Amino acid sequence: MELWYTEKQTDSFGITAKVTETYVREQTDFQDLSMIETEEWGTMLTLDGMVMTTVRDEFVYHEMVAHPALVTHPNPEYVLVVGGGDGGVIREIMKHPKVKKAVLVDIDGKVIEYSKKYLPTIAGELDNPRVEVIVNDGYMHIHDHKNTYDVIMVDSTEPVGPAVELFSKGFYQGIFDALKEDGIFVAQTDNPWFKADLIQTVNRDVKEIFPIVRVYSANIPTYPSGLWTFTMGSKKHDPLQVEESAIPEFPTKYYTPRLHKAAFVLPRFVEDLIK
Ligand code: SAM
Repeated sequence: MELWYTEKQTDSFGITAKVTETYVREQTDFQDLSMIETEEWGTMLTLDGMVMTTVRDEFVYHEMVAHPALVTHPNPEYVLVVGGGDGGVIREIMKHPKVKKAVLVDIDGKVIEYSKKYLPTIAGELDNPRVEVIVNDGYMHIHDHKNTYDVIMVDSTEPVGPAVELFSKGFYQGIFDALKEDGIFVAQTDNPWFKADLIQTVNRDVKEIFPIVRVYSANIPTYPSGLWTFTMGSKKHDPLQVEESAIPEFPTKYYTPRLHKAAFVLPRFVEDLIK
């Protein structure tokens, strides 16, 4: 008998992956967590029935959350990751020697625990001495840490369950207040095929708070539609002003100095969403 994991990306469309082993299936205090082995994508973490990360394609998302903001900020010493319990964004942040401390705040300690056990190539830097891991609500954390961070990355689940508040205007205002005077924030902002409204709303809200707002995209095959967006809000530094020659060649598999500016070039139907 074959076993397949299916994620319904809309009420009438989804993806399905052949499963060879189930390592964990647990209802945590916050979400329905599974860790499964898939034939196509390797080990896969899902939360509330949605693909969070897979060993085979995770590098795209984690590199594209971390590097554009960290090469745009001239001196990103203190970085916050809201969510990100699988550790992938933290792994990418650790490639930047200027970062003195990276704080990860994830609401669900089980995600961290199981990612360390079953996703060692993704979660391996969570024990780095430059990293502090906090199990808490990211919304609470930013309101308790004003004027603290150079860069804040929001690596949250979709706006469901505990992550709903992480897409609110109040949260983005809280991020603005938690950033230093030249701080930068970036959030994953879903896909333009099924979540156009979300991209529009976030863009409108962030534009009311930050002077510089940029949207970029990347191809993530296991995420809904495969076309993923990221929204960056900056108090002072513009990612489009970063010279390619000033960007180091990090040990990456997707992000490159040449791709940095190109990622901000959007298809017309996405441009039209954020005009
Ligand atoms: N890359 C994935 C995506 O784009 O959907 C996200 C991966 S990461 C595992 C998402 C994390 O957000 C989860 O570990 C979840 O526990 C965390 N999270 C959800 N709501 C949160 C909140 N209010 N505060 C902190 N972390 C939260």
